[in-house]
Amino acid sequence: MIDPKIWEDQAEFNAQMRPLPETHAERVALIKEFTLHQMTEMAEFLDAAQVFGAHRRLDTEPLVNHANVKRQLIDQFKYWMSLCQMMGYTPADMGDTYWKKTATVRQRYVAERLTTLTKPVALIDLDGVLADFIEGFIQWIFARMNPSPQAAERLRKIYKTREFINATSLGVSIPEWEAIQHEFRTTGQFGELPMMPHAQEFVQFCREQGCHVVVITSRPIDQYPNIYDDTVEWFAKHEMKVDKIWWGPNKAEKLASVKHLIPDIQFAVDDDDRYIEQFHLYGVRRVYWYRHGELHEPPKQKEIVVVSSLLEIMNKEEHRHE
Ligand SMILES: [Mg+2]
Repeated sequence: MIDPKIWEDQAEFNAQMRPLPETHAERVALIKEFTLHQMTEMAEFLDAAQVFGAHRRLDTEPLVNHANVKRQLIDQFKYWMSLCQMMGYTPADMGDTYWKKTATVRQRYVAERLTTLTKPVALIDLDGVLADFIEGFIQWIFARMNPSPQAAERLRKIYKTREFINATSLGVSIPEWEAIQHEFRTTGQFGELPMMPHAQEFVQFCREQGCHVVVITSRPIDQYPNIYDDTVEWFAKHEMKVDKIWWGPNKAEKLASVKHLIPDIQFAVDDDDRYIEQFHLYGVRRVYWYRHGELHEPPKQKEIVVVSSLLEIMNKEEHRHE
């Protein structure tokens, strides 16, 4: 995206101007200073383009010095590039991030501006229903660290029983678990998860049943906005067309906040008993509980239907009126 020659030129000039910061405190000070420089350049741009000013007449087109406006925009670019370099990023990093962010902006635009939910909605959870979080996470752990035989045994057990992964089930301390999660969330791993069996077919099926497909996930998108990009990328990669991606740590509260946008809910699918409960409390007529492990006690509520695959849901939905 950015010509490496330009990138290198800026880096070389910065290095000539001042020694590279050695301590974290020096780096912080320099980053703040450059951010202020960039903001100053923005003001200079507004001034040079003659588009701003309390006493300016903005109703007629002035004579603009475009040569100078371009210089001001380049100054912003120079500071911006310097900031990228101070953060330790490469032109390739910024190029990748550009394309990911673009996909998100486009998806959001379509979802928020162009798609109005006019059909009954199929509410579908993401991890454990469409995306195989457990398999992806465990594969990633094996690839990134060499687990001790004991840890490997634990991982295999989690893989088999599909219990929730946390510090306890993984046998690590809370700070270690935090660090592992942080790395998983910040290195694009949600974009790499494998699909659950029949996920693509299921999304297509919902569309053919005349539904709008709304994915509702509890991925921590508030703390990690980049996960939204990874999620959009994942749907594109697996050629699944979804109408909205909604996020919320509490799915009933999320639904309540967008109630005016939902004409009708056909059904909801989730694998987590907390969300099954929330969908039920919200009043969803059919809540499919995708169970991965054994179920000791079946739910008492008749609206909650336990299934062990997406195929089973397709089958039940197809024969619902018979
Ligand atoms: Mg889930």
